[in-house]
Order: sequence, then C-alpha cells, then structure tokens
Amino acid sequence: MADPNFKTPKLTSIQDVPAVQPGAMDHSKPFVAKAEHQEALGFPGELVDNWKEVALDKMSDLLKTNRALPVFLDSCVKCGACTDKCHYYLGTGDPKNMPVARQDLLRSVYRRYFTVAGKVLPKLVGAKDLTEEVLEDWYKYYHQCSECRRCSVYCPYGIDTAEITMAGREILASVGVGQKYSNEIIGKVHKIGNNLGLPEPALANTLEGLEEEVKEDTGIDVKFPLDQAGADVLVIVPSADFFAEPHVDGLIGYAKVFHQSGISWTLSSYASEAANFGIFVGNYENMQKVAERIRTSAMELGVKRIVVGECGHAWRVAYSFWNTLIGPFDFLDSDFPVPQHVCEFTSELLRQNILRLDPESNDDKIVTFHDSCNVSRGSRMGNKPGGQFTIPRQLLRASCNHFVDMAPETTHEHTFCCGGGGGLLTDDLLELRVKGASPRMNSLQRVIEDEGVTHMAAICAICKSQFSKVLPFYGMGMEMIVSLHQLVGDALVFDNEH
Ligand code: SF4
Ligand code: SF4
Repeated sequence: MADPNFKTPKLTSIQDVPAVQPGAMDHSKPFVAKAEHQEALGFPGELVDNWKEVALDKMSDLLKTNRALPVFLDSCVKCGACTDKCHYYLGTGDPKNMPVARQDLLRSVYRRYFTVAGKVLPKLVGAKDLTEEVLEDWYKYYHQCSECRRCSVYCPYGIDTAEITMAGREILASVGVGQKYSNEIIGKVHKIGNNLGLPEPALANTLEGLEEEVKEDTGIDVKFPLDQAGADVLVIVPSADFFAEPHVDGLIGYAKVFHQSGISWTLSSYASEAANFGIFVGNYENMQKVAERIRTSAMELGVKRIVVGECGHAWRVAYSFWNTLIGPFDFLDSDFPVPQHVCEFTSELLRQNILRLDPESNDDKIVTFHDSCNVSRGSRMGNKPGGQFTIPRQLLRASCNHFVDMAPETTHEHTFCCGGGGGLLTDDLLELRVKGASPRMNSLQRVIEDEGVTHMAAICAICKSQFSKVLPFYGMGMEMIVSLHQLVGDALVFDNEH
C-alpha cells in the first residue's frame, strides 16, 4: 500500500537517525476546528482580532497554574540528548520535530515577554516576538507531537515536551485556532456521551448483536449488560470497543472474563466513553466535564467499583487525574483500587485461581506486545512499581505459549509511540502518522524476521486504530494487531458451564 503524496520510510534493521531535512514537514497541519466545534468547548469560534494579547494572557495564566511549565521552559541546557528520541523526527528528519526545537517554539516567546533578559536583549537569549508566522508554526508543530513523553525519559532534567505541546495547543484553541479532530470529538462527548456520537438505542442494539455473536461462537450466554443498576462493577471502555476491529474483540474478552468470574458488571449509556480528548488539548475544564459523566454514572448505578478498559490515554487520565477531576471516590468499595485497569482486574482473578487460561488456544500465533505511551510513561498499574509493564506481559504469557518482546530500547518506558496518539489519529495527518510509525515498524520487523512474530497485542484504542491503518503501508497485514483481551478471551476455559 502506498500514498502518491508521500514516501513511506524504508524499514531498517537498526534504527537510523536521519539526515536533517529543514522544512520536511512544514506543509503538515490538521484541519482547523469550525466555529461551532470551538464554541461548544468554550473557545472563540475563529481567530480573535486581539489574538496576540489573548495568547500572551493565556500563557501568563498557564505559567501560574501549571508550575511545571516555567520550570521546563527555564531549565533546558541544550545538551541535545533528546534530539534523536522523537519518532516524528526519526520518521521525517524535520529539525522542528526534535523535542528541544519543538519546545523552543514556545520558549522563545516565553523569553521575549516573561523574562527580563528577553525583554532587554532578545537576540542574545533566543527570544522572539509573537507573530502570525510563529502562531502558524505552533499550529503545525504542536500537531506533530503525540504528547508521548519519550523524550522526557532521556532528558537529564526530565523536561516533558508533552506539557509544552499541551500549553501550545491550549493557547491556540484560546485564540480561536483549535484542531478540528479533537475538538469535534470532545463536543460529541459533551452532547451524547461518546466520541462516536453513538446514542443509547444504537449502543443497546450493538451489545445485543455481540451477545448473539458470542453465543454463536462459543454456545455460551455471555452478557453485555447496559445501565444495570446495582451491578458491582461499572466498566468504562473506549467507544471504539463497541464496533471497531480489533477493539471489539477486546470487549468480548472482558465480557467473557466477567462472565466466568461471576462478578456482576455493567456498561453505561451515559458514560459510554473512556477516552478523554480534553488531555490532548491540555484543557482542564473540558477534561473535567468529560470525566464528570463517569462519576455521575457510577453514583446513579450504585456500583462498588470502576474498571477501565484498554485505552492508553484514558487510563492515564483515570489513574493520574480522576481523583483531582472527579474525586473523592468515597462512595466506592475501598477494598479495591480506584480506578482499576481491566488488565489488573483479570490478573487478580488469575492470581486467585478464579480464571483458568489454556494458552494452547493461541498456539497458531507468535505474539509480541506494544507498550502504549500513556500507560508506560503516564501512569502505573497494580501495587508494584513497573506493574504497567509486568501485568500485561503476565496475561500474555498466560494466554499464549509463544510470546517474545521487541528490542528493549523500544519497549517498556522506552517504547515508541504508534504514531497516532495525542489527538493526531486523523486522516488529514496521514503522512505524519505513517512516517511517525516507522521506528515501531522497524522493531516489529526485527521480531518478525528473527522470531517469526505473527501478531502484536496492544492495550490502547488509538494504537489499535493507528496500526490497523499504517501496517499495510509497511507491507504488513492489518490483522497483525490484536487486543490483549482477545487473546485472554480466546484462551479462557469456561468451567461449570450451564
Ligand atoms: S512528547 Fe513524544 S512526540 Fe512529543 S516531542 Fe517528545 S518524543 Fe516527540
Ligand atoms: S535533553 Fe533536556 S536539557 Fe537536553 S536539549 Fe533536550 S530538553 Fe534540553
């Protein structure tokens, strides 16, 4: 598969650092949000006349409310350790995709207006006036960062470019230049409850269809309960799990696990979305409004626990931000973690011998695992450090006899982004997505050649969608990407079935 508008990078057995190609991605920018999508989120509909003043006011606010931001902007020593760590730089060669250069787009303006040296001797300290050209560069290059935080792992000062990107995007949205893809989706969640705009009757219908499908496949009455008041567990899943491939196979896997465990559970039509694109725009108010639906739903349904399905950034929001956004969770059962990842939930059932898996069921596959950025570098799982790496692998090893990891410099906290995270999973950024995926594709190709890998499991809805789209560009089949809980569900042994 190829696109006539750009060249797919060639796969290499060792990750090359490309030659610098200034302006290589200067043409890449996503569609701008329409006025109605901006206004639904509380942003101006189009570029405001006094945009410069509004942008600097917003930056001033962010410097006060996000205490990490001025530290990140002040502490870079230009050591260069991050320059070759971004998958978008590795895939495109555009120097503005080096993390330090991406930071400098905002840093130069910060220095000009918020530091004494920048006000007095701007040229000497790399300070720049905020002009329309600078604003345009922000729009382009803050939408060529998936907020994956890989660069921060290598920075001796821990500078997190993702935070700077979020600030850049929030300033852009505040002056009226938001991104269509993310903002339109956030609006749908505010209005209907999920990214897809799927209303309750369609959702109920979809779940009924899944019950029939599982019955046909297994002969077992696995239920997909919706809005069941009094259930023990509210399960919050990314809406792609309701119908997209391979996501839906993951949802079927969770349903099988719940069925076999005997623990009552429910999905919610009001809170039918785990994803929270508010984090991509860096906007606290929208993040909170999206998350609020989950708290409301959990209280109304009277559940004791909340379990989050396979979605990377949703898990980061849940694990790292829910308590501040929608806590306290004193109405839930304190014997269980709040929130709990579905992998953690399944792993605990295995530990207690409540579930039995037969790995031979997946003997037709040699499986590897893609660590998702937001799970790896933005959260944790379980009660031990590194649980976000060990728990998914433990489930994979229990479900499959043939599991191999990709190269260590591309897994765990060093994992490469799929290329479509951070609100970039849109076809107007296809070139960026394909090129940005190349470091992950290189390491995947290596285990295909050396170990005969046939499938790559993931626990993130965005990663699954992105890989389904880009694998064919690299000559690989889109069916290679699977949901982790599909493998668990396929290996699950149904005991005492009636
Ligand atoms: S956060 Fe990720 S995408 Fe953004 S600059 Fe760093 S490595 Fe690149
Ligand atoms: S690694 Fe950190 S200190 Fe070094 S150039 Fe990159 S952001 Fe600056």
